Amino acid sequence: MLILMKSNAGADQLEAVAARVRELGLTPHPLQSSSRTVVGVTGEYNGLDPAVFSALAGVSKVMRLSAPFKLAAREFHVDDTVVDVSGVKIGAGQKLCIMAGPCSFESEAQVMAIAHAVKDAGAGIMRGGLFKPRTSPFTFQGLRDDGFKLMQAVRSETGLRFVTEAVDERSLALVEEHADMIQIGARNMQNFALLKKAGQAKKPVLLKRGMSATLDEWLTAADYILSEGNSQVVLCERGIRTFANHTRNTLDLSVVPAVKELSHLPVIVDPSHGTGMRNYVPPMALAAVAAGADGIMVEVHNDPEQAKSDGAQSLFIEQFTEMARRIPEVARAVGRDF
Ligand code: PEP
Ligand code: MN
Repeated sequence: MLILMKSNAGADQLEAVAARVRELGLTPHPLQSSSRTVVGVTGEYNGLDPAVFSALAGVSKVMRLSAPFKLAAREFHVDDTVVDVSGVKIGAGQKLCIMAGPCSFESEAQVMAIAHAVKDAGAGIMRGGLFKPRTSPFTFQGLRDDGFKLMQAVRSETGLRFVTEAVDERSLALVEEHADMIQIGARNMQNFALLKKAGQAKKPVLLKRGMSATLDEWLTAADYILSEGNSQVVLCERGIRTFANHTRNTLDLSVVPAVKELSHLPVIVDPSHGTGMRNYVPPMALAAVAAGADGIMVEVHNDPEQAKSDGAQSLFIEQFTEMARRIPEVARAVGRDF
């Protein structure tokens, strides 16, 4: 629910409205801009008569939001959210962000080689899984805790920021301590206990779309993080399950303008998991930029054929460098800086 205040409403009237919201067991979210003051309301208000607010002094109008998501909704945030990943900004009006790296960290030589290559090509954030949510328990599960030392070494050598996935409460605490951004993977998009923990973390969160999640479900999952006080959430489209079987998943690029319309949160695209095939990654990455994404996340490997996970969708370094060279051209064509 949104309570629009009159343009001449005073601070005391705003406080009285917030107090009434709290009295009803709901949470007020005052949203101030130069042109208007709005109080967003969250909580269980089904059946509540909007007249309880419209009768209050200073109130101009009360609107019900039909969407299931609230804090992620554009109406709940006057400006587009810009997420700060240790100084690298992601969102509207910012430079396009490239996140790149291997599916998994495997060894020091591998991580160092890829780090230097992606940095030279213009990536601001390095990716690389330490805790891998693999389909089979008999496949490589990641370097786990041992990978953080490697991450620190690469950070001090290259200045790259790091995003890596947390799969449970324990790994989330470690990722929060050692990385710059916490990735919540597709398989955990509706792990509500984990989302709440990510909402209490002091680092930004990259929330991947579940492989069969609707946009409503994805944005409502983001609400779990936002409602715990962490406003720094970036959404990541990574492909969904459809009947199409020429690719690993179906990359849903139409979700990018839909997110932009419905939400204030930044959105990036991962064409690696979205297609599963390295030759399809560069065209879909460029298409994501053209569609208005705030960044891309791609898998790159110095020896993809020997990769311990997702080799088939990992770009060769030369392929990544060539793709990164073309991104600014597309970004400029759609009025975006790189
Ligand atoms: C990943 O980014 O390494 C990953 C496992 O992605 P997703 O959660 O999108 O499958
Ligand atoms: Mn992967």
